[in-house]
Amino acid sequence: MSRKALIAANWKMYKTPTEAEAFVKAFLPLVAGHTRDEIALFPSPVLLPAVIAACKGSQVAVGAQNIYFAEEGAYTGETSIGQLIAVGGTHTLIGHSERRQYFGETDEIVNKKLHTALKHKIVPVVCIGEVLAEREAGKTEDVLKTQVTGAFAGINGLSPEAISLIVIAYEPVWAIGTGKTATPEMAADAHRIVRAEVAKLLGADVANKMRILYGGSVKPDNATALLSQEEIDGALVGGASLKPDSFTAIVKY
Ligand code: PEP
Repeated sequence: MSRKALIAANWKMYKTPTEAEAFVKAFLPLVAGHTRDEIALFPSPVLLPAVIAACKGSQVAVGAQNIYFAEEGAYTGETSIGQLIAVGGTHTLIGHSERRQYFGETDEIVNKKLHTALKHKIVPVVCIGEVLAEREAGKTEDVLKTQVTGAFAGINGLSPEAISLIVIAYEPVWAIGTGKTATPEMAADAHRIVRAEVAKLLGADVANKMRILYGGSVKPDNATALLSQEEIDGALVGGASLKPDSFTAIVKY
């Protein structure tokens, strides 16, 4: 089963609009004509209009790092799906470990956000992954199964078109921003667990088609080993996505 890889940049809370525009200006020529993989940038909400305008006419998609599950209302500080769509965003991260760790996002919230994204045909990149203590206690498999089951509650009632939009990012939390990377084999093992759980919930065909990205200290020098694993369908990249040359090297692994 060949799945088109998605290489995604999570810029976290970095860059001003000027810096973001300069990135895109330098980056687009470097990836011109690159169609083997899909490419997406996930900047902070205030950068979205500038980044979307700068990427117009290119193959590079732009999405939010987070959306709220309610359509609109008195939710100070949040971004709605309608606001994302209105500025031309097409993707969103959901349940990034930093959202789970610092902003109290639970599997239940992740599930609500996933339903909202799919209702509006926005590509959701659902982030899951175990913390170090869970891995050391031999609980990785249980954690991943619980996160997938929680995130996907009620999804099997949706249309095949909606379900086909879903992307999962497996990001072991101990590897995010730490310089520690899961070995390609560890990542592939985790992806197999996740895909088996998706098959249980949504069927083998859906599971075989679903892209599962790896994230956690992906750099130009480890991208090829990770991304050449059959089970790894792309990467979610933080630190190494902030510079056009290092992100390009990962895109072109
Ligand atoms: C991330 O932000 O999702 C991430 C994986 O970060 P880093 O590549 O810096 O570990």
